[in-house]
Amino acid sequence: MKLMRTLYGRISLTFLLLLVVMGGLQVFISVKSSVNYVCEASQKLNFSLAKGLANACAEFLRDSIDYKAINETMSHLQLINPGVNAYMLDQSGKIIAHFMGEDDLKRQVIDPTPINKFLADDAYQKLPIFGDDPRSLTRKKVFSVAPINFGFNQSSGYLYIVLVSARDELAGDGIWGSYILSTSALLLITTLLFGAASGLFLFFFLTKRLHEMTGVVKKFEKGQYTQRVPVGAEDEVGQLGIAFNHMAETMQNIMHDLERVDRLRREMVANISHDLRSPLASIQGYIETVLMKDEKLSTQERQAYLETILKNVNNLNRLVQQLFELSRLDARESEPIMEPFSIAELTQDVGLKFQPQAQDKNLRLTTQFPMNLPLVYGDIGMIERVLSNLIENALQYTPAGGKIVVELIPEFRAVKVVVCDSGIGISQDDLPHIFDRFYRVEKSRTRSSGGSGLGLAIAKKILETHDSSLAVKSTINAGSSFSFTLTTSKSDFNLS
Ligand code: ADP
Repeated sequence: MKLMRTLYGRISLTFLLLLVVMGGLQVFISVKSSVNYVCEASQKLNFSLAKGLANACAEFLRDSIDYKAINETMSHLQLINPGVNAYMLDQSGKIIAHFMGEDDLKRQVIDPTPINKFLADDAYQKLPIFGDDPRSLTRKKVFSVAPINFGFNQSSGYLYIVLVSARDELAGDGIWGSYILSTSALLLITTLLFGAASGLFLFFFLTKRLHEMTGVVKKFEKGQYTQRVPVGAEDEVGQLGIAFNHMAETMQNIMHDLERVDRLRREMVANISHDLRSPLASIQGYIETVLMKDEKLSTQERQAYLETILKNVNNLNRLVQQLFELSRLDARESEPIMEPFSIAELTQDVGLKFQPQAQDKNLRLTTQFPMNLPLVYGDIGMIERVLSNLIENALQYTPAGGKIVVELIPEFRAVKVVVCDSGIGISQDDLPHIFDRFYRVEKSRTRSSGGSGLGLAIAKKILETHDSSLAVKSTINAGSSFSFTLTTSKSDFNLS
Protein backbone atom coordinates (compact mmCIF):
# COMPACT_ATOMS: atom_id res chain seq x y z
CA MET A 1 0.00 0.00 0.00
CA LYS A 2 2.88 2.29 0.87
CA LEU A 3 4.37 1.53 -2.55
CA MET A 4 1.15 2.73 -4.17
CA ARG A 5 1.64 6.16 -2.63
CA THR A 6 4.94 6.57 -4.44
CA LEU A 7 5.29 7.83 -8.00
CA TYR A 8 7.25 4.69 -8.83
CA GLY A 9 4.43 2.44 -7.59
CA ARG A 10 1.77 4.32 -9.49
CA ILE A 11 3.64 4.57 -12.77
CA SER A 12 4.61 0.89 -12.56
CA LEU A 13 1.07 -0.31 -11.84
CA THR A 14 -0.42 1.82 -14.63
CA PHE A 15 2.26 0.57 -16.99
CA LEU A 16 1.68 -3.09 -16.06
CA LEU A 17 -2.11 -2.72 -16.43
CA LEU A 18 -1.59 -1.12 -19.83
CA LEU A 19 0.73 -3.95 -20.85
CA VAL A 20 -1.84 -6.61 -19.82
CA VAL A 21 -4.71 -4.83 -21.63
CA MET A 22 -2.63 -4.32 -24.77
CA GLY A 23 -1.43 -7.94 -24.64
CA GLY A 24 -5.01 -9.26 -24.22
CA LEU A 25 -6.15 -7.12 -27.12
CA GLN A 26 -3.31 -8.39 -29.25
CA VAL A 27 -4.20 -12.05 -28.52
CA PHE A 28 -7.89 -11.40 -29.18
CA ILE A 29 -7.21 -9.72 -32.53
CA SER A 30 -4.69 -12.32 -33.67
CA VAL A 31 -6.96 -15.26 -32.72
CA LYS A 32 -9.96 -13.65 -34.42
CA SER A 33 -8.09 -12.82 -37.58
CA SER A 34 -6.53 -16.31 -37.68
CA VAL A 35 -9.94 -17.97 -37.34
CA ASN A 36 -11.35 -15.74 -40.07
CA TYR A 37 -8.41 -16.58 -42.24
CA VAL A 38 -8.99 -20.32 -41.82
CA CYS A 39 -12.71 -19.88 -42.56
CA GLU A 40 -11.88 -17.92 -45.69
CA ALA A 41 -9.39 -20.56 -46.82
CA SER A 42 -11.92 -23.36 -46.23
CA GLN A 43 -14.66 -21.51 -48.14
CA LYS A 44 -12.36 -20.69 -51.03
CA LEU A 45 -11.21 -24.32 -51.21
CA ASN A 46 -14.80 -25.53 -51.36
CA PHE A 47 -16.16 -22.65 -53.41
CA SER A 48 -17.38 -24.87 -56.28
CA LEU A 49 -18.26 -27.87 -54.13
CA ALA A 50 -22.03 -27.21 -54.23
CA LYS A 51 -21.94 -26.52 -57.97
CA GLY A 52 -20.22 -29.83 -58.70
CA LEU A 53 -22.55 -31.74 -56.44
CA ALA A 54 -25.60 -30.03 -57.96
CA ASN A 55 -24.50 -31.20 -61.41
CA ALA A 56 -23.93 -34.74 -60.14
CA CYS A 57 -27.34 -34.82 -58.47
CA ALA A 58 -29.36 -33.14 -61.25
CA GLU A 59 -30.63 -36.43 -62.66
CA PHE A 60 -31.80 -37.58 -59.21
CA LEU A 61 -34.24 -34.67 -59.02
CA ARG A 62 -36.08 -35.18 -62.30
CA ASP A 63 -39.17 -37.12 -61.14
CA SER A 64 -38.78 -36.85 -57.38
CA ILE A 65 -36.01 -36.39 -54.84
CA ASP A 66 -34.10 -39.66 -55.00
CA TYR A 67 -32.73 -39.68 -51.46
CA LYS A 68 -31.02 -43.02 -51.88
CA ALA A 69 -29.04 -42.03 -54.94
CA ILE A 70 -28.21 -38.60 -53.58
CA ASN A 71 -27.06 -40.00 -50.21
CA GLU A 72 -24.86 -42.43 -52.06
CA THR A 73 -23.26 -39.66 -54.10
CA MET A 74 -22.73 -37.60 -51.00
CA SER A 75 -21.24 -40.42 -48.99
CA HIS A 76 -18.21 -40.18 -51.32
CA LEU A 77 -17.91 -36.57 -50.37
CA GLN A 78 -18.10 -37.34 -46.68
CA LEU A 79 -15.24 -39.76 -47.03
CA ILE A 80 -13.03 -36.85 -48.03
CA ASN A 81 -14.71 -34.11 -46.03
CA PRO A 82 -16.50 -35.57 -42.98
CA GLY A 83 -18.84 -33.26 -41.15
CA VAL A 84 -20.24 -31.46 -44.21
CA ASN A 85 -24.00 -31.27 -44.35
CA ALA A 86 -26.05 -30.75 -47.50
CA TYR A 87 -29.52 -29.21 -47.72
CA MET A 88 -31.95 -28.55 -50.57
CA LEU A 89 -33.77 -25.26 -50.27
CA ASP A 90 -36.55 -23.62 -52.21
CA GLN A 91 -36.25 -20.06 -53.52
CA SER A 92 -37.23 -18.49 -50.18
CA GLY A 93 -34.61 -20.52 -48.28
CA LYS A 94 -37.02 -23.07 -46.79
CA ILE A 95 -35.39 -26.49 -46.26
CA ILE A 96 -37.02 -29.11 -48.53
CA ALA A 97 -34.60 -31.97 -47.90
CA HIS A 98 -31.36 -32.62 -46.02
CA PHE A 99 -28.65 -35.23 -46.30
CA MET A 100 -25.75 -36.75 -44.40
CA GLY A 101 -26.72 -35.96 -40.85
CA GLU A 102 -29.10 -36.74 -38.05
CA ASP A 103 -32.56 -35.25 -37.90
CA ASP A 104 -31.72 -32.57 -35.42
CA LEU A 105 -32.61 -29.44 -37.39
CA LYS A 106 -33.16 -26.34 -35.27
CA ARG A 107 -34.47 -24.13 -38.07
CA GLN A 108 -36.50 -24.77 -41.20
CA VAL A 109 -35.69 -21.59 -43.10
CA ILE A 110 -32.25 -20.28 -44.09
CA ASP A 111 -31.67 -16.56 -44.51
CA PRO A 112 -31.31 -16.12 -48.31
CA THR A 113 -29.22 -12.91 -48.10
CA PRO A 114 -25.80 -14.66 -47.63
CA ILE A 115 -26.82 -17.12 -50.36
CA ASN A 116 -27.43 -14.31 -52.83
CA LYS A 117 -24.17 -12.69 -51.79
CA PHE A 118 -22.34 -15.98 -52.45
CA LEU A 119 -23.94 -16.35 -55.91
CA ALA A 120 -23.05 -12.78 -56.95
CA ASP A 121 -20.24 -12.32 -59.50
CA ASP A 122 -17.71 -10.79 -57.11
CA ALA A 123 -18.41 -13.24 -54.27
CA TYR A 124 -14.97 -14.86 -54.40
CA GLN A 125 -13.28 -11.60 -53.42
CA LYS A 126 -15.62 -11.08 -50.48
CA LEU A 127 -15.06 -14.40 -48.70
CA PRO A 128 -15.58 -15.48 -45.96
CA ILE A 129 -19.39 -15.23 -46.14
CA PHE A 130 -21.17 -16.73 -43.17
CA GLY A 131 -24.64 -18.21 -43.49
CA ASP A 132 -27.18 -19.84 -41.13
CA ASP A 133 -26.43 -23.32 -39.79
CA PRO A 134 -29.73 -25.26 -39.67
CA ARG A 135 -28.44 -27.20 -36.68
CA SER A 136 -28.29 -24.14 -34.53
CA LEU A 137 -30.47 -21.09 -33.93
CA THR A 138 -27.58 -18.70 -33.60
CA ARG A 139 -24.45 -20.18 -35.16
CA LYS A 140 -23.18 -18.95 -38.50
CA LYS A 141 -20.92 -21.05 -40.72
CA VAL A 142 -19.10 -20.86 -44.01
CA PHE A 143 -20.93 -22.67 -46.80
CA SER A 144 -21.04 -23.43 -50.50
CA VAL A 145 -24.25 -23.03 -52.49
CA ALA A 146 -25.42 -23.64 -56.07
CA PRO A 147 -28.80 -23.31 -57.83
CA ILE A 148 -30.68 -26.52 -58.66
CA ASN A 149 -33.85 -27.39 -60.62
CA PHE A 150 -36.52 -29.72 -59.38
CA GLY A 151 -37.86 -31.48 -62.52
CA PHE A 152 -40.86 -32.99 -60.76
CA ASN A 153 -42.60 -29.69 -60.01
CA GLN A 154 -40.75 -27.42 -62.50
CA SER A 155 -39.35 -25.20 -59.74
CA SER A 156 -35.86 -24.17 -58.78
CA GLY A 157 -33.96 -23.89 -55.46
CA TYR A 158 -30.52 -24.25 -53.97
CA LEU A 159 -28.12 -26.95 -52.91
CA TYR A 160 -26.72 -25.53 -49.61
CA ILE A 161 -23.66 -27.23 -48.16
CA VAL A 162 -22.53 -26.24 -44.67
CA LEU A 163 -18.76 -26.65 -44.41
CA VAL A 164 -16.88 -27.78 -41.37
CA SER A 165 -15.78 -24.39 -40.19
CA ALA A 166 -12.52 -23.61 -38.54
CA ARG A 167 -14.52 -21.71 -35.97
CA ASP A 168 -16.08 -24.95 -34.74
CA GLU A 169 -12.80 -26.73 -34.83
CA LEU A 170 -11.23 -24.03 -32.74
CA ALA A 171 -14.21 -23.54 -30.48
CA GLY A 172 -14.51 -25.08 -27.06
CA ASP A 173 -11.58 -27.14 -25.82
CA GLY A 174 -10.07 -27.04 -29.27
CA ILE A 175 -9.07 -23.42 -29.15
CA TRP A 176 -6.96 -23.73 -26.04
CA GLY A 177 -4.78 -26.35 -27.58
CA SER A 178 -4.63 -24.52 -30.87
CA TYR A 179 -1.35 -23.48 -32.37
CA ILE A 180 -2.57 -19.91 -32.87
CA LEU A 181 -3.48 -19.44 -29.27
CA SER A 182 -0.42 -21.08 -27.80
CA THR A 183 1.81 -19.00 -30.07
CA SER A 184 -0.08 -15.83 -29.19
CA ALA A 185 0.03 -16.66 -25.49
CA LEU A 186 3.76 -17.27 -25.68
CA LEU A 187 4.20 -14.00 -27.52
CA LEU A 188 2.08 -12.22 -24.96
CA ILE A 189 3.95 -13.65 -21.99
CA THR A 190 7.33 -12.81 -23.54
CA THR A 191 6.21 -9.26 -24.37
CA LEU A 192 4.73 -8.83 -20.90
CA LEU A 193 7.81 -10.09 -19.10
CA PHE A 194 10.24 -8.18 -21.24
CA GLY A 195 8.14 -4.98 -21.24
CA ALA A 196 7.48 -5.18 -17.51
CA ALA A 197 11.12 -5.81 -16.65
CA SER A 198 12.49 -3.01 -18.82
CA GLY A 199 9.67 -0.63 -17.80
CA LEU A 200 10.18 -1.23 -14.06
CA PHE A 201 13.93 -0.90 -14.46
CA LEU A 202 13.53 2.38 -16.35
CA PHE A 203 11.02 3.84 -13.89
CA PHE A 204 13.25 2.81 -11.02
CA PHE A 205 16.14 4.85 -12.38
CA LEU A 206 13.89 7.76 -13.25
CA THR A 207 12.34 7.95 -9.80
CA LYS A 208 15.69 7.24 -8.12
CA ARG A 209 16.93 10.61 -9.38
CA LEU A 210 13.77 12.27 -8.07
CA HIS A 211 14.35 10.53 -4.71
CA GLU A 212 17.88 11.90 -4.61
CA MET A 213 16.55 15.36 -5.38
CA THR A 214 13.96 15.12 -2.61
CA GLY A 215 16.76 14.17 -0.19
CA VAL A 216 18.76 17.24 -1.18
CA VAL A 217 15.72 19.53 -0.95
CA LYS A 218 14.97 18.21 2.55
CA LYS A 219 18.55 18.87 3.66
CA PHE A 220 18.34 22.34 2.13
CA GLU A 221 15.12 22.93 4.03
CA LYS A 222 16.94 22.04 7.26
CA GLY A 223 19.46 24.79 6.64
CA GLN A 224 22.21 23.02 4.72
CA TYR A 225 22.34 25.72 2.06
CA THR A 226 25.45 24.33 0.37
CA GLN A 227 23.55 21.21 -0.77
CA ARG A 228 23.22 20.84 -4.57
CA VAL A 229 21.42 18.31 -6.74
CA PRO A 230 23.58 16.05 -8.97
CA VAL A 231 22.36 16.98 -12.46
CA GLY A 232 23.44 14.01 -14.64
CA ALA A 233 21.64 13.87 -17.98
CA GLU A 234 20.14 17.13 -19.21
CA ASP A 235 16.63 15.70 -19.65
CA GLU A 236 13.50 17.06 -17.90
CA VAL A 237 14.66 15.71 -14.52
CA GLY A 238 18.12 17.15 -15.17
CA GLN A 239 16.53 20.50 -16.06
CA LEU A 240 14.63 20.39 -12.79
CA GLY A 241 17.94 19.75 -11.01
CA ILE A 242 19.59 22.70 -12.78
CA ALA A 243 16.64 24.95 -11.93
CA PHE A 244 16.81 23.84 -8.30
CA ASN A 245 20.55 24.46 -8.14
CA HIS A 246 20.05 27.96 -9.57
CA MET A 247 17.35 28.63 -7.02
CA ALA A 248 19.56 27.26 -4.23
CA GLU A 249 22.40 29.51 -5.40
CA THR A 250 20.13 32.57 -5.36
CA MET A 251 18.75 31.65 -1.96
CA GLN A 252 22.22 31.09 -0.57
CA ASN A 253 23.26 34.54 -1.82
CA ILE A 254 20.13 36.08 -0.34
CA MET A 255 20.86 34.36 2.98
CA HIS A 256 24.41 35.71 2.91
CA ASP A 257 23.11 39.19 2.12
CA LEU A 258 20.55 38.95 4.88
CA GLU A 259 23.19 37.83 7.35
CA ARG A 260 25.46 40.65 6.22
CA VAL A 261 22.69 43.22 6.45
CA ASP A 262 21.76 41.91 9.89
CA ARG A 263 25.38 42.11 11.05
CA LEU A 264 25.70 45.64 9.62
CA ARG A 265 22.47 46.68 11.28
CA ARG A 266 23.68 45.44 14.67
CA GLU A 267 27.05 47.09 14.15
CA MET A 268 25.35 50.30 13.11
CA VAL A 269 23.11 50.39 16.19
CA ALA A 270 26.19 49.76 18.37
CA ASN A 271 28.15 52.48 16.55
CA ILE A 272 25.33 55.01 16.72
CA SER A 273 24.81 54.42 20.43
CA HIS A 274 28.55 54.73 21.03
CA ASP A 275 28.86 57.88 18.92
CA LEU A 276 25.92 59.45 20.69
CA ARG A 277 27.05 58.39 24.13
CA SER A 278 30.54 59.96 24.03
CA PRO A 279 29.55 63.55 23.14
CA LEU A 280 26.51 63.32 25.42
CA ALA A 281 28.67 62.20 28.34
CA SER A 282 31.10 65.00 27.60
CA ILE A 283 28.28 67.60 27.40
CA GLN A 284 26.79 66.27 30.65
CA GLY A 285 30.18 66.42 32.39
CA TYR A 286 30.90 70.01 31.37
CA ILE A 287 27.41 71.25 32.21
CA GLU A 288 27.63 69.62 35.67
CA THR A 289 31.03 71.25 36.23
CA VAL A 290 29.72 74.67 35.18
CA LEU A 291 26.70 74.26 37.50
CA MET A 292 28.74 72.99 40.45
CA LYS A 293 31.60 75.44 40.31
CA ASP A 294 29.46 78.31 39.01
CA GLU A 295 30.93 81.33 40.90
CA LYS A 296 34.37 79.77 41.24
CA LEU A 297 34.88 79.59 37.45
CA SER A 298 36.77 82.36 35.74
CA THR A 299 35.19 83.92 32.62
CA GLN A 300 37.83 82.26 30.42
CA GLU A 301 37.21 78.83 31.95
CA ARG A 302 33.45 79.21 31.59
CA GLN A 303 33.99 80.29 27.98
CA ALA A 304 36.24 77.26 27.29
CA TYR A 305 33.72 74.83 28.86
CA LEU A 306 30.85 76.27 26.89
CA GLU A 307 32.86 76.11 23.68
CA THR A 308 33.59 72.40 24.28
CA ILE A 309 29.90 71.82 24.93
CA LEU A 310 29.03 73.63 21.68
CA LYS A 311 31.61 71.58 19.74
CA ASN A 312 30.08 68.36 21.04
CA VAL A 313 26.57 69.57 20.24
CA ASN A 314 27.75 70.41 16.72
CA ASN A 315 29.27 66.95 16.37
CA LEU A 316 26.03 65.38 17.52
CA ASN A 317 24.07 67.55 15.15
CA ARG A 318 26.34 66.56 12.28
CA LEU A 319 26.05 62.86 13.10
CA VAL A 320 22.26 62.98 13.29
CA GLN A 321 22.11 64.90 10.03
CA GLN A 322 24.38 62.39 8.28
CA LEU A 323 22.31 59.47 9.57
CA PHE A 324 19.15 61.17 8.39
CA GLU A 325 20.68 61.81 4.97
CA LEU A 326 21.87 58.22 4.63
CA SER A 327 18.52 56.77 5.61
CA ARG A 328 16.75 59.02 3.09
CA LEU A 329 19.18 57.86 0.37
CA ASP A 330 18.66 54.22 1.42
CA ALA A 331 14.90 54.60 1.28
CA ARG A 332 15.29 56.36 -2.08
CA GLU A 333 13.37 59.26 -0.62
CA SER A 334 15.91 61.77 -1.85
CA GLU A 335 16.00 61.07 -5.58
CA PRO A 336 18.42 63.32 -7.49
CA ILE A 337 16.93 66.17 -9.46
CA MET A 338 19.00 65.85 -12.63
CA GLU A 339 19.84 69.06 -14.41
CA PRO A 340 22.80 70.41 -16.39
CA PHE A 341 25.22 72.53 -14.37
CA SER A 342 28.77 73.83 -14.55
CA ILE A 343 31.01 71.53 -12.52
CA ALA A 344 33.81 74.08 -12.93
CA GLU A 345 31.79 76.78 -11.15
CA LEU A 346 30.69 74.36 -8.42
CA THR A 347 34.28 73.21 -7.79
CA GLN A 348 35.45 76.80 -7.55
CA ASP A 349 32.68 77.68 -5.04
CA VAL A 350 33.33 74.63 -2.84
CA GLY A 351 37.09 75.32 -3.02
CA LEU A 352 36.49 78.87 -1.85
CA LYS A 353 34.25 77.64 0.97
CA PHE A 354 37.07 75.46 2.39
CA GLN A 355 39.84 77.99 1.81
CA PRO A 356 39.70 79.41 5.40
CA GLN A 357 39.90 75.90 6.91
CA ALA A 358 42.86 75.08 4.66
CA GLN A 359 44.67 78.23 5.68
CA ASP A 360 44.02 77.50 9.38
CA LYS A 361 45.70 74.10 8.92
CA ASN A 362 48.46 75.55 6.74
CA LEU A 363 47.38 73.53 3.69
CA ARG A 364 47.39 74.58 0.05
CA LEU A 365 43.96 73.92 -1.54
CA THR A 366 43.82 74.52 -5.29
CA THR A 367 41.41 73.75 -8.14
CA GLN A 368 42.51 72.89 -11.70
CA PHE A 369 40.38 72.61 -14.83
CA PRO A 370 40.61 73.55 -18.50
CA MET A 371 38.60 76.38 -20.00
CA ASN A 372 35.27 75.68 -21.76
CA LEU A 373 34.57 72.54 -19.76
CA PRO A 374 31.16 71.12 -20.77
CA LEU A 375 28.19 71.14 -18.42
CA VAL A 376 27.56 67.95 -16.50
CA TYR A 377 24.28 66.27 -15.75
CA GLY A 378 23.32 65.70 -12.10
CA ASP A 379 21.83 66.99 -8.85
CA ILE A 380 23.93 70.05 -8.05
CA GLY A 381 23.16 69.94 -4.30
CA MET A 382 24.12 66.28 -4.02
CA ILE A 383 27.34 66.68 -6.03
CA GLU A 384 28.28 69.64 -3.81
CA ARG A 385 27.84 67.29 -0.83
CA VAL A 386 30.15 64.70 -2.41
CA LEU A 387 32.82 67.31 -3.17
CA SER A 388 32.55 68.78 0.34
CA ASN A 389 32.88 65.34 2.00
CA LEU A 390 35.97 64.51 -0.08
CA ILE A 391 37.64 67.90 0.54
CA GLU A 392 36.74 67.75 4.26
CA ASN A 393 38.45 64.35 4.49
CA ALA A 394 41.49 65.59 2.58
CA LEU A 395 41.76 68.56 4.96
CA GLN A 396 41.38 66.30 7.94
CA TYR A 397 43.88 63.62 6.93
CA THR A 398 46.60 65.83 5.47
CA PRO A 399 49.23 67.14 7.87
CA ALA A 400 50.18 70.85 7.90
CA GLY A 401 52.27 71.97 4.93
CA GLY A 402 50.57 69.50 2.59
CA LYS A 403 48.52 70.24 -0.50
CA ILE A 404 45.10 69.34 -1.81
CA VAL A 405 44.18 69.56 -5.50
CA VAL A 406 40.68 69.31 -6.96
CA GLU A 407 41.10 68.56 -10.64
CA LEU A 408 38.52 68.34 -13.42
CA ILE A 409 39.50 66.27 -16.46
CA PRO A 410 37.33 66.19 -19.62
CA GLU A 411 36.66 62.66 -20.91
CA PHE A 412 34.49 61.19 -23.67
CA ARG A 413 31.00 62.48 -22.87
CA ALA A 414 32.00 62.88 -19.22
CA VAL A 415 34.03 64.92 -16.78
CA LYS A 416 36.26 63.21 -14.25
CA VAL A 417 36.48 64.83 -10.81
CA VAL A 418 39.64 64.01 -8.80
CA VAL A 419 40.28 65.10 -5.20
CA CYS A 420 43.94 64.46 -4.49
CA ASP A 421 45.88 65.08 -1.28
CA SER A 422 49.41 64.58 0.02
CA GLY A 423 48.11 63.25 3.33
CA ILE A 424 48.62 60.20 5.52
CA GLY A 425 47.17 57.78 2.96
CA ILE A 426 45.17 54.61 3.58
CA SER A 427 46.62 51.10 3.88
CA GLN A 428 45.69 48.46 1.28
CA ASP A 429 43.95 46.46 4.03
CA ASP A 430 41.67 49.35 4.89
CA LEU A 431 40.96 50.52 1.33
CA PRO A 432 38.15 48.03 0.59
CA HIS A 433 36.30 49.04 3.80
CA ILE A 434 36.48 52.83 3.84
CA PHE A 435 33.10 53.12 2.07
CA ASP A 436 31.39 51.00 4.76
CA ARG A 437 29.25 52.89 7.23
CA PHE A 438 31.03 53.85 10.47
CA TYR A 439 34.34 52.49 9.20
CA ARG A 440 37.30 54.48 10.49
CA VAL A 441 40.88 53.56 9.84
CA GLU A 442 42.08 54.78 13.20
CA LYS A 443 39.03 54.57 15.37
CA SER A 444 40.15 56.41 18.50
CA ARG A 445 41.83 59.28 16.63
CA THR A 446 38.98 59.95 14.22
CA ARG A 447 36.40 59.76 16.96
CA SER A 448 38.11 62.32 19.04
CA SER A 449 38.44 64.50 15.96
CA GLY A 450 34.75 64.13 15.22
CA GLY A 451 34.85 61.79 12.18
CA SER A 452 31.72 59.66 12.09
CA GLY A 453 32.74 57.24 9.35
CA LEU A 454 29.65 58.16 7.31
CA GLY A 455 31.06 60.78 4.92
CA LEU A 456 32.33 58.35 2.25
CA ALA A 457 29.27 56.08 2.61
CA ILE A 458 27.04 59.08 1.82
CA ALA A 459 29.25 60.15 -1.13
CA LYS A 460 29.20 56.63 -2.56
CA LYS A 461 25.42 56.36 -2.19
CA ILE A 462 24.86 59.73 -3.88
CA LEU A 463 27.06 58.74 -6.83
CA GLU A 464 25.16 55.46 -7.16
CA THR A 465 21.98 57.47 -7.70
CA HIS A 466 23.88 59.21 -10.52
CA ASP A 467 24.89 55.86 -12.10
CA SER A 468 28.45 56.64 -11.14
CA SER A 469 30.91 55.24 -8.59
CA LEU A 470 33.61 56.47 -6.28
CA ALA A 471 37.14 55.19 -6.95
CA VAL A 472 40.11 55.51 -4.63
CA LYS A 473 43.87 55.18 -4.98
CA SER A 474 46.09 55.65 -1.96
CA THR A 475 49.64 55.16 -0.77
CA ILE A 476 50.41 55.25 2.90
CA ASN A 477 52.23 58.44 3.93
CA ALA A 478 52.12 59.72 0.33
CA GLY A 479 48.52 60.68 -0.15
CA SER A 480 45.13 59.63 -1.49
CA SER A 481 43.16 60.35 -4.61
CA PHE A 482 39.38 59.99 -4.80
CA SER A 483 37.70 60.23 -8.20
CA PHE A 484 34.31 59.92 -9.92
CA THR A 485 32.86 60.80 -13.31
CA LEU A 486 29.75 62.70 -14.28
CA THR A 487 28.17 62.46 -17.71
CA THR A 488 28.05 65.66 -19.73
CA SER A 489 24.56 67.08 -19.92
CA LYS A 490 22.02 66.27 -22.56
CA SER A 491 22.28 69.82 -23.99
CA ASP A 492 25.97 69.15 -24.47
CA PHE A 493 25.20 66.01 -26.50
CA ASN A 494 22.98 68.08 -28.74
CA LEU A 495 25.77 70.60 -29.34
CA SER A 496 28.44 68.06 -30.22
P1 ADP B 1 35.05 60.16 8.55
O1 ADP B 1 33.90 61.01 8.92
O2 ADP B 1 35.60 59.39 9.68
O3 ADP B 1 36.09 60.90 7.78
P2 ADP B 1 34.57 58.86 6.08
O4 ADP B 1 33.54 57.90 5.70
O5 ADP B 1 34.60 60.13 5.36
O6 ADP B 1 34.45 59.06 7.63
O7 ADP B 1 35.97 58.15 5.92
C1 ADP B 1 36.19 56.87 6.42
C2 ADP B 1 37.61 56.65 6.77
O8 ADP B 1 38.43 56.68 5.61
C3 ADP B 1 38.16 57.73 7.63
O9 ADP B 1 37.97 57.44 8.99
C4 ADP B 1 39.63 57.75 7.28
O10 ADP B 1 40.34 56.84 8.07
C5 ADP B 1 39.68 57.27 5.87
N1 ADP B 1 39.86 58.37 4.92
C6 ADP B 1 38.91 59.02 4.22
N2 ADP B 1 39.45 59.97 3.42
C7 ADP B 1 40.78 59.94 3.62
C8 ADP B 1 41.90 60.67 3.11
N3 ADP B 1 41.73 61.62 2.19
N4 ADP B 1 43.13 60.36 3.57
C9 ADP B 1 43.30 59.37 4.46
N5 ADP B 1 42.30 58.65 5.01
C10 ADP B 1 41.05 58.92 4.60
